Amino acid sequence: MKITDVATTLDDPMQREHLLTMLLSELDGMVYLCRADEFWTMEYVSQGCAALTGYHPDEVLFNRTLSFVDIIHPEDRAKVRDCIDLALAQDRAFSLEYRILCGDGSERWVWERGRGINKPGGEYNLVQGFIQDITDRHLREKALAETEHRYRSIFENATEGIFQTTMDGHYLEVNSALARIYGYDSSQDMIAHLQDISEQLYVLPGRRDEFIGMMKDLGVVTNFESQVYRKDKAIIWISENAHEVRDVEGELLYYEGTVEDITERKAYEELIAYQATHDNLTNLPNRALMMDRLQQAIRSAHRDGSQAAVVFIDLDHFKNVNDSLGHNAGDEMIRTVAERLRGCVRENDTVARLGGDEFVLLLADVKKSPGLVAQAVQRVLDAIEKPCMISGREYLITCSIGVSLYPEDGGDPDVLLKNADLAMYKAKESGRNAFWFFTPELDHGLAQRLQLEQQLRVAINEHQFELYYQSKFDVASGKITGAEALLRWRRPGRQQIILPDQFIPLAEETGLINSLGQFALQTACRQMRAWMDAGLQVVPISVNLSARQFQQPGLVKMVEDALRDNQLSPHLLNLEVTESCLVLEEAGFLDTLAELKALGVLIALDDFGTGYSNMHSLKTMPVHWLKIDRSFILGVELDHRDRAIYRAMVAMAQHLGLSVVAEGVETTCQYEFLHSIGCNEVQGFHCGKPLPPSVFSHYLRPVMKSVRKLPLPLLGKMMPVSATTSHTAVMLSPTGS
Ligand code: C2E
Ligand code: CA
Ligand code: CA
Repeated sequence: MKITDVATTLDDPMQREHLLTMLLSELDGMVYLCRADEFWTMEYVSQGCAALTGYHPDEVLFNRTLSFVDIIHPEDRAKVRDCIDLALAQDRAFSLEYRILCGDGSERWVWERGRGINKPGGEYNLVQGFIQDITDRHLREKALAETEHRYRSIFENATEGIFQTTMDGHYLEVNSALARIYGYDSSQDMIAHLQDISEQLYVLPGRRDEFIGMMKDLGVVTNFESQVYRKDKAIIWISENAHEVRDVEGELLYYEGTVEDITERKAYEELIAYQATHDNLTNLPNRALMMDRLQQAIRSAHRDGSQAAVVFIDLDHFKNVNDSLGHNAGDEMIRTVAERLRGCVRENDTVARLGGDEFVLLLADVKKSPGLVAQAVQRVLDAIEKPCMISGREYLITCSIGVSLYPEDGGDPDVLLKNADLAMYKAKESGRNAFWFFTPELDHGLAQRLQLEQQLRVAINEHQFELYYQSKFDVASGKITGAEALLRWRRPGRQQIILPDQFIPLAEETGLINSLGQFALQTACRQMRAWMDAGLQVVPISVNLSARQFQQPGLVKMVEDALRDNQLSPHLLNLEVTESCLVLEEAGFLDTLAELKALGVLIALDDFGTGYSNMHSLKTMPVHWLKIDRSFILGVELDHRDRAIYRAMVAMAQHLGLSVVAEGVETTCQYEFLHSIGCNEVQGFHCGKPLPPSVFSHYLRPVMKSVRKLPLPLLGKMMPVSATTSHTAVMLSPTGS
């Protein structure tokens, strides 16, 4: 039958029924009429029943084989009942979804819609409706819901922040991680508060525009690092990765991306960068950063036609501080100095620490006036010189400063620094606690110094040194009491012997004094052994020790070895230490001295009166002699005050139980004065010059009784060595040479 035929057939009741039956049977689903009883007893079901439930309508009608309640999934029966009952009670249609159990044992989802029919006077309430299979749709929806749920879960549980924003800076969605990163209580809280990302979020103005710009150019933004404000206005670092989201027509919908809090990483990176460019004791820029700034200063001075100054600062005798007070105190002093230097310069000048006790100031944009630089440098000297408290005690420290200027003294950082360093050396040489401007002549001086240092090293390797011996006499008896070993440098092919003043200071500075000192000690000991083996009666030999040697471990052992190797009694060896050693007070020095004394070696405090030693430390020092410096004897012939001083020094030393040696005695008059005040021993040209060992040996008596006859070519006018020699003989025999 065609649709066009329907109009004619509707008039015929038979035809109409047939049409209806046909329509109902064609329906995809089941039309029903049932009683609202406990079985949902079906009075009518359409043919669709078989396809829907797998049961033939005859099996279901009037519960012939099974009731519709049996078909409803047991777990859903109550739900179906409640839903329909309620609708009937309220006289309205119902619609619900539930599961049924089919004839083949399968489970299906159905959608039922219906309503009650009032059949007046009827035995039962009736329900009519339509049930449709929605299993496929249901499964699809379920899968979709599960997928949705999964993504939600990822979104919500991600540790990274996730967002969707509109182009004009509103959030569409944010996850809780992002809310947390930005310091909000919840996603909702954040979306409500942050209305304009550009204004409220980014610290740098225009940062959001950069983000949008990159999006427009590339469609993505990767590792976009920015500083942002949290809700509490704290600033954090984030890294964003984002992309555009477009609809099928290509219309831009929103941006979507992730946010990572990289504050810790940034802080760590900053720390690393800071540590690479700063000194960790003082937090001052280190050499690398200083060189970088110097390069910049040169560039800007070049541009503006101005000047830049490199001020090289080195603390004076800082090593002594470290050695005597310990490294902690040394560190404290360095920090104090750093603080003071910072206080001496302008905001845009740089104070850097190169390491150790070396600092550099960069004075940028110095007007063409060295006077100003000099004033600034003088300020530094003054600031450093102020007493400084270390562990509750006051100490004084000074510094030596060298200055080089751009462009006069060099065009690049290395040269400027080197020249400032050179000038600093000159300041040290000039007596320290001073500053010096670089001049081209300094360069020459340094070259000479370097050359001498090189020659010294060669000389040590090639054994160009030897020892001379200068005798020491008892003032009262005129007898020889010992001799001092003094270094001489004999350079091959040269007539002139080089005296210690020419090389000892440099040897001290470079540490070469350790090798020289060792040579002197071993040579003196070997010499004594050789004289003894030759049957001579040796006198004790004094060897000079430098302060540097006390800083070297193993000094005591070296002395011990030298004595043992040459089978010498310790009383034959005397050691002379200068007063400058006393700067090394406490730490190690006195202990070492005591250990040396314990070996049986006697010790003299040399050059007394020129250094810092105070009476108090003298009292406790393990020394046997005091050698009064040569400078004190010079005036005694002419000035009664000098005599008074000398007399006082001798008396004081003797009261402390020390024996006194007068150094540099050149005249009979001086000798007589010393005799008159009871000075114990003398040493000087008046009694004998330093002599090579072959000549000096003539002063030594043979061990045998027979008295050696002395040829004395050089010693002609000097004191005879015989036991009967009296001091008058000495006084009557000035050296004259
Ligand atoms: P010093 O220890 O004070 O040695 C005495 C110096 O005074 C010697 O100079 C000596 O030649 C000189 N002298 C002695 N009598 C007279 C005098 O009557 N008049 C004058 N004008 N001078 C006199 P020298 O040999 O040139 O040594 C100079 C300094 O070099 C020494 O002063 C000592 O400090 C140092 N020195 C020498 N040898 C050594 C050594 O082996 N080790 C160390 N560490 N220093 C040494
Ligand atoms: Ca000496
Ligand atoms: Ca001396």
